[in-house]
Amino acid sequence: MSNAELIWDLVDEHREEFIGLADRVWGMPEICYTEYRSVEEHRKMLEQQGFRVTDNVAGIPTAVMGEAGEGGPVIAIMGEYDALPGLSQVANIAEPQPVEEGGHGHGCGHNLLGSAAMLAAAGLKDWLEKTGTPGRVRYYGCPAEEGGAAKGFMVRAGAFDDVDAAVTWHPSGVTQVGIANSLANTRIDFSFTGRSSHASAAPHLGRSALDAVELMNVGVNYMREHMPPDARLHYAMLDAGGVAPNVVQGFAKVRHAVRAGDLATMQALVERVKKVAEGAALMTETTMSWQVVSAVSNMLDNDPMKRAMFDNMQRLGAVPFDAEDKAYASQIQATLTGADISNEYLRAGVPEKDDTPLCDFIVPLEARGVSMPGSTDVSDVSWAVPTIEARVATHAIGTPGHSWQITAQGKAAAAHKGMIHAAKIMAGTAVDMVRDEELLAAAKADHAVRTAKTPYVCPIPEDVHPPLQPRPE
Ligand SMILES: [Zn+2]
Repeated sequence: MSNAELIWDLVDEHREEFIGLADRVWGMPEICYTEYRSVEEHRKMLEQQGFRVTDNVAGIPTAVMGEAGEGGPVIAIMGEYDALPGLSQVANIAEPQPVEEGGHGHGCGHNLLGSAAMLAAAGLKDWLEKTGTPGRVRYYGCPAEEGGAAKGFMVRAGAFDDVDAAVTWHPSGVTQVGIANSLANTRIDFSFTGRSSHASAAPHLGRSALDAVELMNVGVNYMREHMPPDARLHYAMLDAGGVAPNVVQGFAKVRHAVRAGDLATMQALVERVKKVAEGAALMTETTMSWQVVSAVSNMLDNDPMKRAMFDNMQRLGAVPFDAEDKAYASQIQATLTGADISNEYLRAGVPEKDDTPLCDFIVPLEARGVSMPGSTDVSDVSWAVPTIEARVATHAIGTPGHSWQITAQGKAAAAHKGMIHAAKIMAGTAVDMVRDEELLAAAKADHAVRTAKTPYVCPIPEDVHPPLQPRPE
C-alpha cells in the first residue's frame, strides 16, 4: 500500500463523524463573527479527535485551532463555517423555500468547507502517528470569511508565523486546483456631515450630505474608464440621511469597495477615491471622514504546491457521483439558466458537456478560463506562507455562488461525497509536504520569489479590529 492510499483510507475511517459535523453546522447557520455554536461543534470534534486545542485565536472567540504531532514541518489546514444572511433554504428540494423566512443559510457551502478541512487534518494526524513521521498538523477554524476578513486579522496577529505551508479548499461546481486570481479588496466607509435645514423654507441655509454622497458616487463612476481593467469599484448606501425629502440631509454615509489585482494597485485606487470624496465635500461645503472597514489581499499562486495537489486529484479521480446524485443535480440545473451553466465552464476553461449535471472530470492544470474573480481572506494567508486551495465539486455545475440552490444542496449525498473527496485531496497534498523535503523547500522558494519585490503589509490598518459580536444569551 502506498502512503497515498494509507492517508485516503485514514480519511475514510472518519467519514461518518465528519458528515455528521457538516450536517449539524448546516442546521445552525451563523454569520460573520456570530459563529458561537458552529465553533463549539468544531471545538468538540477537535477534542474528540485528540487535538491540542487553542481557543480565541487572534482574540476572536469564534476562531479555534487544533494541533497534533511533534517536530517536523507545520502544515495548516484551514476551514470555515460561517453562513450568509437571507439564504435560509430547505435541504434536498429544487425550489426556493426557506426554513425560516429571511433567515441565514449555508449558501456558500462553508458547512462542508470546515468539516472537510478538519477531516483532512484528522487523517494527517493519524498518518503521522501510524508512520512515526515528525511533523505537526494544525486545523484552523476560521470564522467570518464572508465580509469579515478574519484570516487577515489572524495573519496580522501572528497565528500563521510558524506555519510552513497551508492547504484549503472551497465547494464548487467543478473539481480543479484553485486559480490564484482573486483580487485585493478593501471596504471604506465615507461619512459626510453638512447642515440640515427645512428643504423648502430655508434651503439656502442647508448643506446637503446626501448631495455630497451622490457627487462622490458620480465621480467614482467617472474613474472607471481610467483604471486597470481588472479593478472593480462598488458602493452601497449605508445612511442616506433619513426618509424625509423636505429636510436637507445633514449626515450621510456610503460604503465603497475597491478591488484590484494586487495590493499596490488597490492602494493607489483608494487614494484616488479619497480625492473624489474630498472633491465632493469641497463642492457641497460639507466635511468628510473615512474609515477602513476591512481589507483582504490578492491571492498568490504556488507552482510546486499546485502540481502536488493536481497529482493527488488525478490519482483520486473525479468525485464518485452516482445516478441518484445526478438526478437531483438535474432538478437543480432546471432552476438555472443556460448562461449560468455555460459560465462555469467558461471560468474553468474547459469545453461544455451536456451529458452530466455533476462534474465527472478534473479541470486540467493548464486550462485557462475566463477570469471572473472575487476576493477571499485566504489570500492573506497566501502572502504569509505558501498556500494552495482546491475547488471540489459538491453541487450541480452552474449553481451560482451565494444562492438558495447551494444551501439546498449542502446536505445532499453529492455534497458529502465531494466533501470526503476534498479531504482526501488536502490530506494527500499535506502528506506530500510533510514527507518530501524538496517539495516543501521548492514551495518556500516559489513563495519567496513572489513576495521578494513587495513584502507583505497587512492591508487592514492597525487601528481596525475584527467587528466581534457578543455571545448570544
Ligand atoms: Zn465561500
